[in-house]
Amino acid sequence: MKALVKYALGKGNLELRDLPDPVPGPGEVVMRVAATGVCGTDLHVEDDEYVVVPPVTIGHETSGRVVATGPGVSSIAIGDRVTAMTTMWSCGTCDACHAGELNRCPERHGLGAQADGAFATYLRVPAANALRLPDNVADEPASLTEPLACCTRAVLEVGNLGAPPHPSSAPVVVSGPGPIGLLCAQVARAAGHRVIILGTGADTARFAIARTLGFEELIDVTATDPVGAINDRTGGKGVPVVIEAAGAAPSLATAIELAMRGGTVVQIGLYGRPVPVPVDRLVIREVTLRGSFASTPSSWRSALDLMATGAVDLAPLVSLVLPLRDWATGFAAARTKAAGKVVLVPGD
Ligand SMILES: [Zn+2]
Ligand SMILES: [Zn+2]
Repeated sequence: MKALVKYALGKGNLELRDLPDPVPGPGEVVMRVAATGVCGTDLHVEDDEYVVVPPVTIGHETSGRVVATGPGVSSIAIGDRVTAMTTMWSCGTCDACHAGELNRCPERHGLGAQADGAFATYLRVPAANALRLPDNVADEPASLTEPLACCTRAVLEVGNLGAPPHPSSAPVVVSGPGPIGLLCAQVARAAGHRVIILGTGADTARFAIARTLGFEELIDVTATDPVGAINDRTGGKGVPVVIEAAGAAPSLATAIELAMRGGTVVQIGLYGRPVPVPVDRLVIREVTLRGSFASTPSSWRSALDLMATGAVDLAPLVSLVLPLRDWATGFAAARTKAAGKVVLVPGD
């Protein structure tokens, strides 16, 4: 089969290779990959800014169909349409594992980083990682289940926005209208929150997708001062939760400015390098800055529920579908941040 392999640490060092087709061991399934999304993390891997264990097939946002099951597998059957939870292995004994927060296990093996991933024709995963997809979501958008599970983690679990808002509550702000921001915005809206989305003058296409998804409160921070705009809407109080989904230092500083006293900024996504943080502002206003990393089994259940009910619509976020052999073009397109998600399909 074809597989996109990070074959050594260092910048670049990615190539499409011919690997043997995987065979499921006991308790494992093999899925034929239908589609795999290009994530910011994949670009960090290409840039040597995110630690993987080479040689490893990368790619972790995927959908497909089960084509083989190993001995002892009864939960999932050949022909099932599935996605794959990304914690491929965790120790099972640490506090995080006991709490179900497998993303925090210090020995976690992540799909496409420490374990072979989904930019490939076939993917082998433990049967427990293969989750059935709702029928109403097509293969290419369904590859976005994984980023959605990261966003349900960030919004509902880390940001604690699962409960309906109090009638007097201020809106939730999402900074960054890329795929992650627009997924977080949909999750917050599905939980009943009013959502304001911030972007820049370079985000015209992304704002258009936001409008397609029904978001109307969009602020271009290069044209309108976001602090003034949010203060106008909140009587100067700021907002309880800001989701930082742009992965840009100025966006993080703005997010901290916008949080109310005692509020929370949830950081989803990586920078690849240290960034300045206005710490005094955090201290004086007792703002909490919380990281949100990857996903948990419970955030995957939330994601699949939101897809099944249609409360989150993934299809408008897919803006470019390319064959796996054109991965380099796809990665370059993802770097431009021009529109929504780039998805690679393995084909023959
Ligand atoms: Zn990802
Ligand atoms: Zn553990």
